[in-house]
Amino acid sequence: MLYIPFSSYIPKKSLGQNFLQDTKIINKIIHFIKPNHDHLLVEIGPGLAALTHLICNYVDYLVVIEIDKKLSDFLKKYSFSCKVLIYERNVLFFDFKKLFFQENQLLRVFGNIPYNISVQLIFHLIKFRHFIFDINFMVQKEVADRLMALPGNKCYGRLSIIAQCYYNIYFGFDISPNSFFPKPKVYSSFIKMIPKLNPLLPFNKMNILQYITSFAFKKRRKMIRNSLKGIFDENTLFLLNINPDLRAEDLSVQEYCKLSDFYFSKLHNLNPKFYKFIDNS
Ligand code: SAH
Repeated sequence: MLYIPFSSYIPKKSLGQNFLQDTKIINKIIHFIKPNHDHLLVEIGPGLAALTHLICNYVDYLVVIEIDKKLSDFLKKYSFSCKVLIYERNVLFFDFKKLFFQENQLLRVFGNIPYNISVQLIFHLIKFRHFIFDINFMVQKEVADRLMALPGNKCYGRLSIIAQCYYNIYFGFDISPNSFFPKPKVYSSFIKMIPKLNPLLPFNKMNILQYITSFAFKKRRKMIRNSLKGIFDENTLFLLNINPDLRAEDLSVQEYCKLSDFYFSKLHNLNPKFYKFIDNS
């Protein structure tokens, strides 16, 4: 049973409003998140509170970030709202650092987030990885496949490499369009992402990783001796112990990070021997 009747609200397509209406799935998500009153949970896009009102049974305090004023006004009316701190904001510009009050209480971010912002949000959260314990998100199935794909897989690409550089990613379960109102056109997946304590590449080199992967994946089936010719010569690839005959889709995340590290050192005009000492932030 849902807390607020759908009949009193017209969903906004532009804000990716597909509300969960399947009690079984809602409970499965709660079970997957495993909320506990020691945790500081942060929900993105509570909408009509399908997840919110149940999560409130497990915690003393919940932070929610909702862009739609009408929905945040809805939330304020319910009994559980005394436990909820509402930020009426666009999550893509939200500074998560300000929610971090105690050393021993990392944030647990979760939500059934709009498909059109999921990738941007996952990237935005990388900036706050030191304050986050885990991220539990509903994403489009195709995005989950790309996030988790390994080299050689047809879904492996820039998103897989950048996300896996900063997060350990775990698959939860798939969700059919029938679990939502209105029904989306595609299947969804629920996933967990845990920021890596020691990412494969310091954050300040992420833009280089983006640059190199965009270069490589423009021609994913070509050997990198050709596709990366403009930025790495063959000798450099040998020096880095990377086989120039490989294709963009076959290189591991570690190999892309090695290339980015090297390129960074080149940009800074340093001796490549010392590239690993540049920055450990
Ligand atoms: N969690 C609810 C609603 C999901 S719909 C449920 O599962 O039923 C997605 C929600 O994200 C909506 O409430 C929408 O208003 C909100 N939203 C969309 N874009 C947002 C943004 N940029 N920042 C914060 N919330 C956003």
